[in-house]
Amino acid sequence: MPFFSLMIIFYFQPFSIIAQGRIIPPPAKYGGRHTVTLIPGDGIGPELLNHVREVFRFTCVPVDFEVVNVNSSLNSEDDIHNAITAIRRNGVALKGNIETNHIMPPSHKSRNNLLRTSLDLYANVMHCQSLPGVQTRHKNIDIIIIRENTEGEYSSLEHESVSGVVESLKIITRLNSLRIADYAFRLAREKGRRRVTAVHKANIMKLGDGLFLQCCKEVASGYPDITFDSMIVDNTTMQLVSKPQQFDVMVMPNLYGNVVSNVCAGLVGGPGLVPGANYGRDYAVFETATRNTGKSIADRNIANPTAMLLASCLMLDHLKLHEYATLIRNAILTTMNETRLHTADIGGQGTTSEVVQSIMNIIQSSGPRTTAQY
Ligand code: ATP
Repeated sequence: MPFFSLMIIFYFQPFSIIAQGRIIPPPAKYGGRHTVTLIPGDGIGPELLNHVREVFRFTCVPVDFEVVNVNSSLNSEDDIHNAITAIRRNGVALKGNIETNHIMPPSHKSRNNLLRTSLDLYANVMHCQSLPGVQTRHKNIDIIIIRENTEGEYSSLEHESVSGVVESLKIITRLNSLRIADYAFRLAREKGRRRVTAVHKANIMKLGDGLFLQCCKEVASGYPDITFDSMIVDNTTMQLVSKPQQFDVMVMPNLYGNVVSNVCAGLVGGPGLVPGANYGRDYAVFETATRNTGKSIADRNIANPTAMLLASCLMLDHLKLHEYATLIRNAILTTMNETRLHTADIGGQGTTSEVVQSIMNIIQSSGPRTTAQY
Protein backbone atom coordinates (compact mmCIF):
# COMPACT_ATOMS: atom_id res chain seq x y z
CA MET A 1 0.00 0.00 0.00
CA PRO A 2 1.44 3.44 -0.88
CA PHE A 3 2.71 5.44 2.06
CA PHE A 4 0.17 8.23 1.51
CA SER A 5 -2.78 5.82 1.62
CA LEU A 6 -1.47 4.42 4.87
CA MET A 7 -1.20 7.94 6.25
CA ILE A 8 -4.81 8.64 5.36
CA ILE A 9 -5.99 5.59 7.24
CA PHE A 10 -4.24 6.65 10.43
CA TYR A 11 -4.95 10.36 10.26
CA PHE A 12 -7.44 11.94 12.58
CA GLN A 13 -9.09 8.86 13.91
CA PRO A 14 -11.94 9.95 16.20
CA PHE A 15 -11.10 11.04 19.74
CA SER A 16 -14.45 10.03 21.07
CA ILE A 17 -13.56 6.34 21.15
CA ILE A 18 -12.50 7.09 24.69
CA ALA A 19 -15.94 8.21 25.50
CA GLN A 20 -17.60 4.87 24.82
CA GLY A 21 -19.76 4.12 27.81
CA ARG A 22 -19.35 7.68 29.04
CA ILE A 23 -20.64 9.92 26.30
CA ILE A 24 -23.74 8.70 24.55
CA PRO A 25 -24.35 10.25 21.14
CA PRO A 26 -27.98 11.18 20.65
CA PRO A 27 -30.17 8.61 18.97
CA ALA A 28 -30.76 9.00 15.25
CA LYS A 29 -33.93 10.92 14.57
CA TYR A 30 -36.67 10.12 12.04
CA GLY A 31 -35.43 8.10 9.10
CA GLY A 32 -31.99 7.67 10.65
CA ARG A 33 -31.17 11.39 10.38
CA HIS A 34 -29.44 13.40 13.11
CA THR A 35 -30.07 17.00 14.03
CA VAL A 36 -26.98 18.99 14.96
CA THR A 37 -26.82 22.55 16.30
CA LEU A 38 -24.83 24.82 13.99
CA ILE A 39 -23.44 28.06 15.41
CA PRO A 40 -21.83 30.06 12.57
CA GLY A 41 -19.97 32.44 14.93
CA ASP A 42 -17.95 35.40 13.64
CA GLY A 43 -15.20 36.08 11.09
CA ILE A 44 -14.60 33.10 8.81
CA GLY A 45 -16.99 30.86 10.80
CA PRO A 46 -20.11 31.43 8.66
CA GLU A 47 -18.40 30.86 5.29
CA LEU A 48 -16.51 27.78 6.49
CA LEU A 49 -19.67 26.26 7.94
CA ASN A 50 -21.50 26.95 4.67
CA HIS A 51 -18.79 24.89 2.97
CA VAL A 52 -19.34 22.09 5.49
CA ARG A 53 -23.06 22.13 4.67
CA GLU A 54 -22.28 22.07 0.94
CA VAL A 55 -19.98 19.05 1.33
CA PHE A 56 -22.52 17.27 3.57
CA ARG A 57 -25.32 17.88 1.04
CA PHE A 58 -23.11 16.66 -1.79
CA THR A 59 -22.17 13.53 0.16
CA CYS A 60 -25.80 12.85 1.24
CA VAL A 61 -24.77 12.91 4.92
CA PRO A 62 -27.89 12.20 7.00
CA VAL A 63 -27.47 15.27 9.21
CA ASP A 64 -29.82 18.25 9.47
CA PHE A 65 -28.52 21.46 10.97
CA GLU A 66 -30.43 23.66 13.35
CA VAL A 67 -28.75 27.04 12.84
CA VAL A 68 -28.51 29.29 15.89
CA ASN A 69 -26.93 32.70 15.39
CA VAL A 70 -25.13 34.33 18.29
CA ASN A 71 -24.55 38.07 18.02
CA SER A 72 -21.38 38.70 19.98
CA SER A 73 -21.85 42.46 20.12
CA LEU A 74 -25.05 42.34 22.15
CA ASN A 75 -24.92 42.75 25.92
CA SER A 76 -27.82 40.37 26.40
CA GLU A 77 -26.92 36.71 26.87
CA ASP A 78 -30.20 35.54 25.30
CA ASP A 79 -28.53 34.40 22.05
CA ILE A 80 -25.98 32.18 23.73
CA HIS A 81 -28.60 30.71 26.06
CA ASN A 82 -30.69 29.84 22.99
CA ALA A 83 -27.63 28.12 21.51
CA ILE A 84 -27.02 26.21 24.75
CA THR A 85 -30.67 25.10 24.86
CA ALA A 86 -30.40 23.90 21.25
CA ILE A 87 -27.29 21.86 22.09
CA ARG A 88 -29.07 20.36 25.11
CA ARG A 89 -31.85 19.34 22.75
CA ASN A 90 -29.64 17.94 19.97
CA GLY A 91 -26.65 16.72 22.00
CA VAL A 92 -24.09 17.77 19.40
CA ALA A 93 -22.94 21.05 17.86
CA LEU A 94 -20.54 22.34 15.24
CA LYS A 95 -19.46 25.91 15.75
CA GLY A 96 -17.40 28.81 14.49
CA ASN A 97 -15.64 30.92 17.06
CA ILE A 98 -17.67 33.71 18.64
CA GLU A 99 -15.71 36.91 18.98
CA THR A 100 -14.91 38.12 22.50
CA ASN A 101 -13.89 41.74 22.33
CA HIS A 102 -11.57 42.56 25.22
CA ILE A 103 -12.78 46.13 25.37
CA MET A 104 -16.23 44.96 26.49
CA PRO A 105 -16.87 45.45 30.24
CA PRO A 106 -15.82 42.63 32.62
CA SER A 107 -19.48 41.68 33.05
CA HIS A 108 -19.49 40.62 29.37
CA LYS A 109 -18.46 36.98 29.53
CA SER A 110 -16.94 35.12 26.62
CA ARG A 111 -19.85 33.41 24.82
CA ASN A 112 -17.56 30.51 23.91
CA ASN A 113 -16.60 30.03 27.55
CA LEU A 114 -20.18 30.31 28.75
CA LEU A 115 -21.20 27.62 26.30
CA ARG A 116 -18.44 25.22 27.40
CA THR A 117 -19.00 25.70 31.12
CA SER A 118 -22.82 25.61 30.92
CA LEU A 119 -22.67 22.27 29.10
CA ASP A 120 -19.80 21.02 31.29
CA LEU A 121 -17.67 20.23 28.23
CA TYR A 122 -14.72 19.44 30.46
CA ALA A 123 -12.31 17.86 27.97
CA ASN A 124 -10.87 19.77 25.05
CA VAL A 125 -9.08 17.36 22.75
CA MET A 126 -6.79 18.23 19.89
CA HIS A 127 -4.79 15.78 17.81
CA CYS A 128 -1.85 17.55 16.22
CA GLN A 129 -0.27 15.62 13.37
CA SER A 130 2.07 16.50 10.56
CA LEU A 131 -0.03 16.66 7.42
CA PRO A 132 0.81 15.21 4.02
CA GLY A 133 1.90 17.86 1.55
CA VAL A 134 2.33 20.67 4.09
CA GLN A 135 5.87 22.01 4.39
CA THR A 136 6.89 22.54 8.02
CA ARG A 137 10.17 22.82 9.91
CA HIS A 138 9.46 19.71 12.01
CA LYS A 139 8.26 16.38 10.61
CA ASN A 140 6.52 13.37 12.19
CA ILE A 141 4.63 15.23 14.89
CA ASP A 142 1.84 13.22 16.48
CA ILE A 143 0.67 14.74 19.74
CA ILE A 144 -2.67 14.48 21.52
CA ILE A 145 -3.39 17.45 23.78
CA ILE A 146 -6.00 17.17 26.52
CA ARG A 147 -6.93 20.51 28.01
CA GLU A 148 -9.10 21.04 31.10
CA ASN A 149 -11.87 23.16 29.64
CA THR A 150 -14.01 24.48 32.48
CA GLU A 151 -11.92 26.08 35.22
CA GLY A 152 -8.33 27.24 35.88
CA GLU A 153 -7.64 30.74 34.63
CA TYR A 154 -10.97 30.84 32.76
CA SER A 155 -13.14 31.09 35.86
CA SER A 156 -14.08 34.72 35.04
CA LEU A 157 -13.61 35.64 38.71
CA GLU A 158 -11.83 38.96 38.77
CA HIS A 159 -12.24 42.00 40.99
CA GLU A 160 -10.63 45.31 41.72
CA SER A 161 -11.72 45.92 45.32
CA VAL A 162 -8.79 48.28 45.81
CA SER A 163 -8.19 50.64 42.91
CA GLY A 164 -5.13 49.61 40.94
CA VAL A 165 -5.07 46.11 42.42
CA VAL A 166 -6.78 43.38 40.41
CA GLU A 167 -7.25 39.89 41.72
CA SER A 168 -7.90 37.30 39.06
CA LEU A 169 -8.76 33.90 40.47
CA LYS A 170 -7.45 30.68 39.00
CA ILE A 171 -9.60 27.82 40.24
CA ILE A 172 -8.18 24.30 40.38
CA THR A 173 -10.34 21.62 41.96
CA ARG A 174 -9.48 18.07 42.87
CA LEU A 175 -12.64 16.76 41.25
CA ASN A 176 -12.03 18.37 37.86
CA SER A 177 -8.30 17.64 37.91
CA LEU A 178 -8.93 13.93 38.57
CA ARG A 179 -11.61 13.93 35.88
CA ILE A 180 -9.38 15.40 33.17
CA ALA A 181 -6.40 13.25 34.16
CA ASP A 182 -8.58 10.17 34.00
CA TYR A 183 -9.82 11.25 30.56
CA ALA A 184 -6.23 11.66 29.34
CA PHE A 185 -5.10 8.24 30.59
CA ARG A 186 -8.16 6.47 29.22
CA LEU A 187 -7.65 8.08 25.83
CA ALA A 188 -3.95 7.21 25.92
CA ARG A 189 -4.74 3.57 26.66
CA GLU A 190 -7.50 3.31 24.04
CA LYS A 191 -5.24 4.86 21.40
CA GLY A 192 -2.32 2.61 22.32
CA ARG A 193 -0.23 5.57 23.45
CA ARG A 194 2.71 5.05 25.77
CA ARG A 195 3.31 8.27 27.61
CA VAL A 196 1.29 11.01 29.27
CA THR A 197 2.98 14.29 30.20
CA ALA A 198 1.31 16.65 32.68
CA VAL A 199 2.13 20.30 32.01
CA HIS A 200 2.18 22.64 35.03
CA LYS A 201 3.84 25.49 36.87
CA ALA A 202 3.74 23.92 40.33
CA ASN A 203 7.08 25.43 41.27
CA ILE A 204 5.36 28.83 41.40
CA MET A 205 1.66 27.99 41.86
CA LYS A 206 2.42 25.42 44.52
CA LEU A 207 -1.15 24.94 45.69
CA GLY A 208 -3.13 25.28 42.45
CA ASP A 209 -0.84 23.57 39.95
CA GLY A 210 0.47 21.41 42.79
CA LEU A 211 -3.03 19.96 43.20
CA PHE A 212 -3.37 19.43 39.45
CA LEU A 213 -0.06 17.60 39.32
CA GLN A 214 -0.88 15.51 42.39
CA CYS A 215 -4.19 14.43 40.82
CA CYS A 216 -2.40 13.42 37.61
CA LYS A 217 0.06 11.34 39.66
CA GLU A 218 -2.78 9.62 41.51
CA VAL A 219 -4.57 8.73 38.28
CA ALA A 220 -1.28 7.60 36.66
CA SER A 221 -0.81 4.99 39.40
CA GLY A 222 -3.88 3.18 37.99
CA TYR A 223 -2.24 2.97 34.54
CA PRO A 224 1.04 1.09 35.04
CA ASP A 225 1.18 0.36 31.30
CA ILE A 226 1.55 4.07 30.50
CA THR A 227 4.61 6.12 31.41
CA PHE A 228 3.78 9.27 33.32
CA ASP A 229 5.97 12.34 33.55
CA SER A 230 5.55 16.05 34.03
CA MET A 231 7.08 19.18 32.61
CA ILE A 232 6.98 22.82 33.61
CA VAL A 233 5.06 24.86 31.07
CA ASP A 234 7.89 27.21 30.08
CA ASN A 235 10.24 24.31 29.36
CA THR A 236 7.37 22.55 27.56
CA THR A 237 6.96 25.35 25.02
CA MET A 238 10.73 25.45 24.46
CA GLN A 239 10.86 21.66 24.01
CA LEU A 240 7.89 21.80 21.65
CA VAL A 241 9.51 24.23 19.25
CA SER A 242 12.87 22.43 19.36
CA LYS A 243 11.98 18.73 19.54
CA PRO A 244 8.20 18.20 19.30
CA GLN A 245 8.50 14.50 18.38
CA GLN A 246 9.32 13.67 22.02
CA PHE A 247 5.68 14.29 23.08
CA ASP A 248 2.92 11.71 22.97
CA VAL A 249 -0.16 12.63 25.06
CA MET A 250 -0.18 15.86 27.07
CA VAL A 251 -2.64 16.89 29.79
CA MET A 252 -2.85 20.36 31.30
CA PRO A 253 -4.97 23.06 32.91
CA ASN A 254 -7.00 25.47 30.81
CA LEU A 255 -4.69 28.39 29.94
CA TYR A 256 -1.58 26.27 29.34
CA GLY A 257 -3.80 24.18 27.05
CA ASN A 258 -4.71 27.28 25.10
CA VAL A 259 -1.06 28.29 24.62
CA VAL A 260 0.29 24.80 23.97
CA SER A 261 -2.43 23.94 21.45
CA ASN A 262 -1.68 27.12 19.48
CA VAL A 263 2.04 26.31 19.50
CA CYS A 264 1.30 22.79 18.29
CA ALA A 265 -1.06 24.00 15.55
CA GLY A 266 1.70 26.33 14.38
CA LEU A 267 4.14 23.41 14.29
CA VAL A 268 2.01 21.44 11.84
CA GLY A 269 1.06 24.34 9.58
CA GLY A 270 -1.27 26.75 11.37
CA PRO A 271 -4.81 27.43 12.58
CA GLY A 272 -6.43 26.49 9.29
CA LEU A 273 -5.46 22.84 9.57
CA VAL A 274 -6.25 21.38 12.97
CA PRO A 275 -9.70 20.36 14.25
CA GLY A 276 -10.72 20.36 17.89
CA ALA A 277 -13.39 18.75 20.02
CA ASN A 278 -14.98 19.49 23.39
CA TYR A 279 -16.48 16.55 25.22
CA GLY A 280 -18.57 16.35 28.36
CA ARG A 281 -20.61 13.54 29.83
CA ASP A 282 -23.73 14.47 27.87
CA TYR A 283 -22.74 16.77 25.02
CA ALA A 284 -20.05 17.28 22.40
CA VAL A 285 -19.13 20.44 20.49
CA PHE A 286 -16.75 20.50 17.53
CA GLU A 287 -14.80 23.48 16.22
CA THR A 288 -11.34 24.41 14.96
CA ALA A 289 -8.64 23.58 17.48
CA THR A 290 -7.25 27.09 17.84
CA ARG A 291 -10.66 28.76 18.11
CA ASN A 292 -9.86 31.66 15.79
CA THR A 293 -12.32 34.10 14.29
CA GLY A 294 -9.95 35.09 11.46
CA LYS A 295 -11.82 38.38 11.11
CA SER A 296 -9.27 39.99 8.80
CA ILE A 297 -9.62 37.23 6.18
CA ALA A 298 -13.42 36.83 6.40
CA ASP A 299 -15.49 36.82 3.19
CA ARG A 300 -12.41 36.87 0.94
CA ASN A 301 -12.48 33.22 -0.13
CA ILE A 302 -8.94 32.71 1.18
CA ALA A 303 -9.46 30.96 4.55
CA ASN A 304 -8.22 27.41 4.77
CA PRO A 305 -11.34 25.22 5.19
CA THR A 306 -9.37 22.12 6.31
CA ALA A 307 -9.65 22.52 10.10
CA MET A 308 -13.40 23.12 10.04
CA LEU A 309 -14.05 20.28 7.59
CA LEU A 310 -11.92 17.92 9.71
CA ALA A 311 -13.89 19.08 12.77
CA SER A 312 -17.07 18.11 10.95
CA CYS A 313 -15.54 14.65 10.35
CA LEU A 314 -14.87 14.28 14.09
CA MET A 315 -18.51 15.17 14.61
CA LEU A 316 -19.61 12.48 12.13
CA ASP A 317 -17.46 9.95 13.97
CA HIS A 318 -19.09 10.99 17.23
CA LEU A 319 -22.49 10.35 15.63
CA LYS A 320 -21.15 6.97 14.52
CA LEU A 321 -21.46 7.96 10.87
CA HIS A 322 -17.97 6.59 10.34
CA GLU A 323 -18.24 5.83 6.62
CA TYR A 324 -19.20 9.41 5.81
CA ALA A 325 -16.45 10.73 8.09
CA THR A 326 -13.84 8.54 6.41
CA LEU A 327 -15.01 9.42 2.89
CA ILE A 328 -14.84 13.17 3.54
CA ARG A 329 -11.61 12.98 5.59
CA ASN A 330 -9.82 11.01 2.89
CA ALA A 331 -10.92 13.55 0.27
CA ILE A 332 -9.62 16.40 2.45
CA LEU A 333 -6.25 14.73 2.98
CA THR A 334 -5.87 13.82 -0.69
CA THR A 335 -6.55 17.47 -1.54
CA MET A 336 -3.94 18.59 1.03
CA ASN A 337 -1.40 16.66 -0.96
CA GLU A 338 -2.10 18.86 -4.02
CA THR A 339 0.31 21.76 -3.47
CA ARG A 340 -1.29 23.83 -6.25
CA LEU A 341 -4.51 23.99 -4.22
CA HIS A 342 -2.89 25.19 -0.99
CA THR A 343 -4.40 28.36 0.45
CA ALA A 344 -2.21 31.36 1.34
CA ASP A 345 -1.76 30.41 5.02
CA ILE A 346 0.26 27.37 3.93
CA GLY A 347 2.14 29.12 1.18
CA GLY A 348 -0.14 28.66 -1.83
CA GLN A 349 -2.50 30.71 -3.96
CA GLY A 350 -5.56 28.45 -3.88
CA THR A 351 -8.95 29.73 -2.78
CA THR A 352 -11.31 28.27 -0.20
CA SER A 353 -13.83 27.30 -2.86
CA GLU A 354 -11.19 25.60 -5.04
CA VAL A 355 -10.19 23.42 -2.09
CA VAL A 356 -13.83 22.56 -1.36
CA GLN A 357 -14.52 21.81 -5.04
CA SER A 358 -11.52 19.47 -5.16
CA ILE A 359 -12.79 17.67 -2.05
CA MET A 360 -16.19 17.18 -3.68
CA ASN A 361 -14.61 16.00 -6.94
CA ILE A 362 -12.67 13.35 -5.02
CA ILE A 363 -15.81 12.30 -3.16
CA GLN A 364 -17.61 12.00 -6.50
CA SER A 365 -14.85 9.93 -8.01
CA SER A 366 -15.14 7.54 -5.05
CA GLY A 367 -18.33 6.30 -6.70
CA PRO A 368 -22.04 7.09 -6.66
CA ARG A 369 -23.52 7.52 -3.21
CA THR A 370 -26.96 7.07 -1.90
CA THR A 371 -27.89 7.10 1.75
CA ALA A 372 -28.81 3.43 1.39
CA GLN A 373 -25.15 2.57 0.81
CA TYR A 374 -24.25 3.55 4.33
P1 ATP B 1 -7.57 38.76 12.71
O1 ATP B 1 -8.04 37.61 11.89
O2 ATP B 1 -8.37 39.99 12.54
O3 ATP B 1 -6.10 38.98 12.59
P2 ATP B 1 -6.97 37.83 15.30
O4 ATP B 1 -5.75 38.64 15.41
O5 ATP B 1 -7.81 37.61 16.50
O6 ATP B 1 -7.94 38.41 14.19
P3 ATP B 1 -7.20 35.12 14.91
O7 ATP B 1 -8.62 35.06 14.51
O8 ATP B 1 -6.87 34.76 16.31
O9 ATP B 1 -6.59 36.52 14.60
O10 ATP B 1 -6.34 34.23 13.93
C1 ATP B 1 -4.94 34.21 14.05
C2 ATP B 1 -4.31 34.21 12.70
O11 ATP B 1 -4.61 33.01 12.02
C3 ATP B 1 -4.82 35.35 11.83
O12 ATP B 1 -3.74 35.82 11.07
C4 ATP B 1 -5.83 34.66 10.93
O13 ATP B 1 -5.97 35.29 9.69
C5 ATP B 1 -5.21 33.26 10.77
N1 ATP B 1 -6.23 32.22 10.53
C6 ATP B 1 -7.13 31.76 11.40
N2 ATP B 1 -7.89 30.81 10.86
C7 ATP B 1 -7.46 30.66 9.58
C8 ATP B 1 -7.86 29.82 8.47
N3 ATP B 1 -8.87 28.94 8.57
N4 ATP B 1 -7.17 29.94 7.32
C9 ATP B 1 -6.15 30.81 7.20
N5 ATP B 1 -5.74 31.62 8.19
C10 ATP B 1 -6.38 31.54 9.37
